Amino acid sequence: MTKHIFVTGGVVSSLGKGLTSASIGMLLEQRGLKVKIQKLDPYINVDPGTMSPYQHGEVYVLDDGSETDLDLGHYERFTNSPLSRDSNYTTGQIYLSVIEKERRGEFLGKTVQVIPHITNEIKQCIKRLRDDDTDVVITEIGGTVGDIESQPFLEAIRQFSLDVGKENCLYIHLTLVPYLKAAAELKTKPTQHSVGQLREIGIQPDILICRCERTISREDREKIGLFCNVPLEAVIEEKDKDFSIYEVPLSLVEHGLDELIVRRLQLESSSTLDLDDWRELLHRMRNPSHEISIAVVGKYAEHKDAYKSIYEAIDHAGISNLAQIRIGRIQSEDVENEGPERLLSGYDGILIPGGFGERGIEGKVAAIRYARERNIPFFGICLGMQCAVIEYGRNVVGLTDAHSTEFDKDSPHPVICLLDEQKNIVEMGGTMRLGAQPAILESGTHCANLYGKTEVEERHRHRYEFNHVYRKQFAAHGMRFAGTSPDGKLVEIVELEDHPWFVAVQYHPEFKSKPTHSHPLFQGFIEAAVSRRVKEKQNASVSF
Ligand code: GLN
Repeated sequence: MTKHIFVTGGVVSSLGKGLTSASIGMLLEQRGLKVKIQKLDPYINVDPGTMSPYQHGEVYVLDDGSETDLDLGHYERFTNSPLSRDSNYTTGQIYLSVIEKERRGEFLGKTVQVIPHITNEIKQCIKRLRDDDTDVVITEIGGTVGDIESQPFLEAIRQFSLDVGKENCLYIHLTLVPYLKAAAELKTKPTQHSVGQLREIGIQPDILICRCERTISREDREKIGLFCNVPLEAVIEEKDKDFSIYEVPLSLVEHGLDELIVRRLQLESSSTLDLDDWRELLHRMRNPSHEISIAVVGKYAEHKDAYKSIYEAIDHAGISNLAQIRIGRIQSEDVENEGPERLLSGYDGILIPGGFGERGIEGKVAAIRYARERNIPFFGICLGMQCAVIEYGRNVVGLTDAHSTEFDKDSPHPVICLLDEQKNIVEMGGTMRLGAQPAILESGTHCANLYGKTEVEERHRHRYEFNHVYRKQFAAHGMRFAGTSPDGKLVEIVELEDHPWFVAVQYHPEFKSKPTHSHPLFQGFIEAAVSRRVKEKQNASVSF
């Protein structure tokens, strides 16, 4: 019998519900349980695929090609929960499905309403994850309790316990317990109000997880428990972590959360947790042997979530290389205006992430030229690869004005062009080349060596590709096509032969990196950056 955990958030947004849900999933897995996680998002877009990274942060792509919320990245990094299309639903998707059913006449002439039709649809989305193999389904409800948009979701999860039995559902509410400097005390009132709102719609939370900057005293926890009708042991503190988000699961264990969940849901699980890997990871983070800096040059550099998985994957490779990494978030337009020398000197590696649209392209091209000419380790991802091809075309192959047709339809040298399969597509949502696709690697290349194999599967999200008309010309000038699609038609990886580490890929390796298993290409990139730093240090000491 599958059990259900619902995670809601109150008081303010950005409390880290995603991270907390992922941590809960991880703890339950470590206790030997099979877990699935999903997120229900209250906005009306059908998926985040068409949303601006400024609005929504990165779009996280799954193997099956669904374009999802970035919290699913936390789920994959923390757990082994299999994620698919069913792991992320939005209000838009729910309504779309109900309206399509209505058009097909499936409601037999009835008036279609939020209750029961929309709430039934939401419950279906949750039930899809139930199966004999799954002990616990964790459903995170996006947004904040009290938002108009999230009401149907809260109503649906309230009803859910009627369908599957109260004893099979657990409601966890994440709140904020702020510290007021002027009063020199923690304030519990916002939590009381938020729980009050939940209770008004018929949900009594079983567990409160209280985000705070300072330790909550026993008295304050008692007060919260009393006002919110929750026993003291279920008022759990989740204090801000100034060192790393990877401390969150360990601190939740210290406060007894896993034990409490297992007991409340009467789950048959092992009584101990194996957190050795996780502790080892934090130990490595605390004891680095190297310090390096990596420049990520992108269009959304100032937005902390726009390249979330890239930053995470860099950190993972830092952990495995015992390197503390300072990430410089550089606006590509600034590189355009101020020149690469001023903004990029001193970095041990340069990474250009994926993206869309023309703004900042010339800055990326300039940054790549700088990395190539100065032998600085370079890693290009998706648009980053396409820019590397443009740069090489213009400055090495001699194709003046080489460009991508995404930015210049009439380029005399369209070295990047629309994929054939994209030529007749007009709709924007969910129509790119998406999800896991195989690639064949040429042995002896950086990539094949790092992966340790010549067949890989990586996640994609693009419409444009290397224009194969130019392949021979580029190869003659030293660009190596280290990986292609199995039919050899699409270029997946380019490398440079006479450069210490210049690798660019058409796919998104960042989506498959985990804190305990750094992605091989990020691993290699950071290793190359570390060796460059070590050599520079040696050179500096020789010259003294
Ligand atoms: N805009 C490019 C394309 O559509 C790159 C996409 C990306 O970086 N995700 O092919």
